[in-house]
Amino acid sequence: MGKQQPVIRFYSGEDIPLELHKARIVQKLNLVPIERRLEALYEGGFNTFRLNTRDIFLDMLTDSGTNAMSDMQLAAMMHADDAYAGSQSFYRFQKAVEDVLKKKYVLPAHQGRAAENILAKAYIRKKGDLIPMNYHFTTALAHITQYGGRIVELLYDEAFRIDSSHPFKGNLHVEKLEQVIRETGVENIPFIRMEASTNLIGGQPFSIQNMREVRKVADAYGLRIVLDASLLGENAYLILQREPEFAGSTMGEVIEIMTGLADIVYFSARKLSSSRGGAICTNNHDIYLELEALVPLFEGFLTYGGISVREIEAMAVGLYETLDETMIRQSPDFIRYLVNSLMAKGVPMVTPPGVLGAHVNAMQLCEHIPQTQYPAGSLGAAFFLISGVRGMERGSISNQRDEEGNETYADMELLRLAVPRRVFTLSQIKYVEDRLVWLNENRRLIGGLKFIYEPPVLRFFMGGLAPVSDWPEKLMAKFRKDFGDSL
Ligand SMILES: *Cc1c(COP(=O)(O)O)cnc(C)c1O
Repeated sequence: MGKQQPVIRFYSGEDIPLELHKARIVQKLNLVPIERRLEALYEGGFNTFRLNTRDIFLDMLTDSGTNAMSDMQLAAMMHADDAYAGSQSFYRFQKAVEDVLKKKYVLPAHQGRAAENILAKAYIRKKGDLIPMNYHFTTALAHITQYGGRIVELLYDEAFRIDSSHPFKGNLHVEKLEQVIRETGVENIPFIRMEASTNLIGGQPFSIQNMREVRKVADAYGLRIVLDASLLGENAYLILQREPEFAGSTMGEVIEIMTGLADIVYFSARKLSSSRGGAICTNNHDIYLELEALVPLFEGFLTYGGISVREIEAMAVGLYETLDETMIRQSPDFIRYLVNSLMAKGVPMVTPPGVLGAHVNAMQLCEHIPQTQYPAGSLGAAFFLISGVRGMERGSISNQRDEEGNETYADMELLRLAVPRRVFTLSQIKYVEDRLVWLNENRRLIGGLKFIYEPPVLRFFMGGLAPVSDWPEKLMAKFRKDFGDSL
């Protein structure tokens, strides 16, 4: 039996996520007036990626590289060992990988996508090779296709239901996996990819039960499993919460089972353990040798992998901290609190609450805006206007056009409000809730957007849009009427 999980109850019975840390270094925030926020939107082409943080109050764009660092991480960075080769910082990191992820061999990379580049380069041998996976992540897909590979996404139907109570929407569809392997032939499948806390469907976990079944199929056909562990800690935490078999287990026990079921584990340390870096880990010496030569080619020498040794120290300490449930749970607990409060007040959200952020269902909130006018992008711009909070569009603007240049509309139109770990306070989360409830009540004032500058690749980063009418001015006028002289 594992350790009892920490429970802190309030006398009032309210489900309040209590912070188990204190702030000792803080950064000042500004909330500029709504008139300035409107100007900023026009300057930034109504695209939240193009805003300047000078104009932003709460930055909920992403969890990547934005989690709070701990005092122990900052302290470790001070005693880093600057050496091109054989740095002690690397050996401390290697020890952390062995202790926490239970993998003997580790190859550092400058971030998650660099690990994806190395894996795709090493294992996609011919055009048309197929990688089955639960769901893609943007950079994983880009690297696989860059080397001529293809992907197939194998989720259960439940994953695409926005308001669901299914605890493990990230599960890989085992029956379909077996069918795909038989139809495609093992010789055309370099590996099976499983992503912990499936990012693009709302940060939704898979269960250990599911991973065990995928392992069985992989073994039956002699295939390898590659685990994208960027959001491993959060997936493990939700397993403790939602999978009865592990109700009394520790983070370490669950993480060990998850990584033990994979042949290769890679991660973005921008999410997993620190604010920079990435790595590929394995216990298989042959795999290690297959990948080893690619690190000096693309990243840097094997003991620094393209990042500073200071960042390597922070990654090592961060890995140990991943075992601390009180640290990992802070972000998912805040997300659950925010999603549940918003749902109770009628704001349509992706459920069950997942990790990395709260996801607003813009297709429903902005049902009066046709998909041709980008409801999620419009909601993101409108929400910034009335709150100073920056989210990220995860809808059709984030999609690419097809080969003929036609728009491809996304399955879901979501506004993601990322909740980086230990960064925001509960009153800030209450502010987000308050402004979003007001916007939902005034949703008819939100109008659509159109592209005025559309880059050919990854258009969502630098694309410029404009409102289809003077709706932003009307929304601002209503804000002034209801909030008086409030920022
Ligand atoms: C962020 C992320 C990546 C890519 O990592 P970078 O460090 O941004 O290159 C890969 N997979 C998942 C699941 C991620 O969330």
